[in-house]
Amino acid sequence: MSAHPPIPAASAPSKNETWRGRYAGAVMNTFGTPGRVLVRGQGTRVWDADGKEYIDLLAGIAVNCLGHAHPAVVSAVTEQISTLGHISNLFTSPAQITLAEALTDLVFPVAPQNARVFLANSGTEANEAAFKIARRHGGRARPRILALEDAFHGRTMGALALTHKAAYREPFEPLPGGVEFIPAGDVDALRGALGPDVAALIVEPIQGEAGVRPLPDGYLEAARELTAAAGALLIIDEVQTGMGRTGAWMAHHLLAPGIVPDVVTLAKGLGGGMPIGAAVATGEAAELLGPGQHGTTFGGNPVAAAAALAVIDTIRTEGLLGRITELGDRWAAALEAVPGVTEVRGAGLLRGVGLAEAVGPAAEVAGALERRGFIVNAPRPDTLRLAPPYILADADADAFTATLTDVLTERTAA
Ligand SMILES: *Cc1c(COP(=O)(O)O)cnc(C)c1O
Repeated sequence: MSAHPPIPAASAPSKNETWRGRYAGAVMNTFGTPGRVLVRGQGTRVWDADGKEYIDLLAGIAVNCLGHAHPAVVSAVTEQISTLGHISNLFTSPAQITLAEALTDLVFPVAPQNARVFLANSGTEANEAAFKIARRHGGRARPRILALEDAFHGRTMGALALTHKAAYREPFEPLPGGVEFIPAGDVDALRGALGPDVAALIVEPIQGEAGVRPLPDGYLEAARELTAAAGALLIIDEVQTGMGRTGAWMAHHLLAPGIVPDVVTLAKGLGGGMPIGAAVATGEAAELLGPGQHGTTFGGNPVAAAAALAVIDTIRTEGLLGRITELGDRWAAALEAVPGVTEVRGAGLLRGVGLAEAVGPAAEVAGALERRGFIVNAPRPDTLRLAPPYILADADADAFTATLTDVLTERTAA
C-alpha cells in the first residue's frame, strides 16, 4: 500500500498528473506533491508539462534573478563546464578567486581589503559558516547567540537552530544550543538580551519567509551600535534580500546605509539559478575560521562561481539596480491601489502583498493566479510574495496587477 494519498486520475491523465504520480512514488514527501511539473523556462516565462505558459513572478524563490536561460549565465556556465568543472578545495581556480574578490567589493564597499569569503552551495550552508564563526568568537565565554522571532535561516541543524518556527524545529530537537529568540525590531529587547556572554546577533533585514517584513527604520543601526558595544558580532542574512533584490546590492546598504556588519550571508540570487552560497566576513570575523575548521567539497566550484560572476557583471552592465528600484516602486504603488490589498511591504522586487480577510486564504489566491498564468507564492495566510526576475517587463507587471484585481474582485463578490 502506498503511504501517499492517490493523485486523482482524470479519464485521460495529463502529463502533469502522470509526472506527479511518479513524483509521489519516488521523492520523499517533504514538500507535498508540487502542483505543476515544469519543463522549460525562457526569460520571465516557464512552461509546464502540458504546454501551459506562466509568467514567473517568484523566480525559483528569489533565485533566477536574470530570468531563465539568460544568455550571459548560459554561456558562462557552458564555457566553464567545458573547460574545468570541478576541482575540490585542494585546488583553486581563477573563477573562485575572482568571485571572492568581487563579493568583498560588493558586500563591504568601504574597506573590501579587510573582508574574506567562504563559498558554499546554499543559504543554509552560508549560515552554518556564520554560526561557526560566531562560535569561534569568544569561544566558551560567549555561548549565547541571539536571533529574531519569525526568523528563517535554513534547514540544516545549525541554521535550523537559528530559525524560529516551532513546526520546523521541534521534530529535530535537541538542536545546537545557546540560541535565544528576541522580538523582531524591538531595540529594548535587544539591549536587554545583550551581554558579555553573547557571541552574535543574526538578522534578516527584511524577513522573507515570514511574509516580506522589513525591520523597522533604525533597528539595524541600533543593532550595529549595541552589538559593537557588547563585543558581539552582527551577522546579516542577505540570502533572500541580497544581490540586488531590493535595488541595492545588499538590502542593508539601502535600509541602513553606512553600517558595517561583521558577517553577511548570501545565496539564492547569487548564482542566477546555479547552487551557490557565501559567507562574507570583515575584520576580526574574517579570521576566525582557520585551517581545518570548516570545509566543503563543492563550495566555490568553478561552474557555480562562473555563473555568479556572470550575474554580477550583467546586473552592473545592464544597470539593473536602477531598474529594480524604478519598477519596484511603481509596481508597489499600483498593487497598493488594488481593492482587497491591505498593504505592500518590502523593497525593489521583493514584495509582500497583504490581503484583506474577505478575499480568503492567500494560498487560494495564489492558486487562482496560477490558473491564470502567474506564479507567486503565499508565505503567510494573508500575504502573497513577489520576487520576479530583474528583467521583468513593465507590461508583465501591469498584466499581473490587472489579473490580481480581477481575482480579488471575484473572490470578494463570491
Ligand atoms: C532561503 C533562505 C535561507 C536558506 O537558503 P537555502 O538555499 O534554501 O538553504 C536562509 N536564509 C534566508 C533569509 C532565506 O530566505
